[in-house]
Amino acid sequence: MDLFPVLGIDIGGTKVALCLATSDGTILGKSRVDNVDRDAKEVLPQIVTEAKALLKQNELTTDDLKAIGICSPAPHDLENGVILTPFNMPGWRNVPIRDFLEKALETEAFMENDANAGALAEWFFGIGKKCKNLLYLTMSTGVGGGVILNGHLVQGTNHNAGEVGHMVLDIAEDAPICSCGQRGCFEAFSGGRAIALRVQEDIKQNYISTFIIDHADGDIDSIDMIAIEKAVKDQDKYAVKIWSEMSKRNAQGIGLLINALNPEMVVLGTLAWAAGDLFMKPLMEHIEKYTWPQMRETCQVVPSKLRREIGEYAGISVALNFLYERGEFDPFTDSDFVDV
Ligand SMILES: [Zn+2]
Repeated sequence: MDLFPVLGIDIGGTKVALCLATSDGTILGKSRVDNVDRDAKEVLPQIVTEAKALLKQNELTTDDLKAIGICSPAPHDLENGVILTPFNMPGWRNVPIRDFLEKALETEAFMENDANAGALAEWFFGIGKKCKNLLYLTMSTGVGGGVILNGHLVQGTNHNAGEVGHMVLDIAEDAPICSCGQRGCFEAFSGGRAIALRVQEDIKQNYISTFIIDHADGDIDSIDMIAIEKAVKDQDKYAVKIWSEMSKRNAQGIGLLINALNPEMVVLGTLAWAAGDLFMKPLMEHIEKYTWPQMRETCQVVPSKLRREIGEYAGISVALNFLYERGEFDPFTDSDFVDV
């Protein structure tokens, strides 16, 4: 199949990252637009300018561009391509980004949430290449998921499939309240932001002495997962307890998903590749309690290999997936990928 160019646009609270690539994942150029406390009205035209500059650098025009893929932060209306009210982007309210970019760049644009885009990136270009059944979990400040089943991204009735971070794992009264309002969500137990806030609160209220504070330069309010991970490596008792609780909940959440979906691979993002064995070992020890052997033994649970670069592939993968679903593109050119 002839190669063609696609443009990926990853919208984040600090920056908008653009990536121009060919359909085999060869990156032709990258660019970024600052998005800290900025209004969408200013940022959008700049995205268009940068996109055109990237094309020009490669002696291409919008006529050559086959599709645009947008990774959008939640909450959003994916059916209509509208970014609604992301909490860390106050200048973006009800922004019809898909239609805007389609018109400005005279190219079809498609939109997915970050986790679905991450799943597509791992499936087309990462460790999960050619898996027919793949689950990707972001394991970052929050827990997001993207599900590929029978060779297709699952979107669900109203495009919320894969929101596994808000699967309730525990409704006990002492289970943490999630940012979504429910009690005991997977993300409330395992999301980096939720854990860090809980640890900060716990240390302040209970005057806990822990190396975590040292690794946050003495500032309790700036404790994050990196500080907690470093204290675990120091064998700090409190940090080890927090890490162990998280590992058990990770096993529960991921184990339930393995039993529900029977994937051949679960790819784990951010914290899994950043912490490596420290993350993976206790997870795999506990996962047996939540899975049938026949599903566990046929499923590889692995950290992402695209790592930080996943953002670059995510946007272009969104564009490619829509073309794939329409039968206009085959991302798997050899016969290993069957029955699609
Ligand atoms: Zn929740």
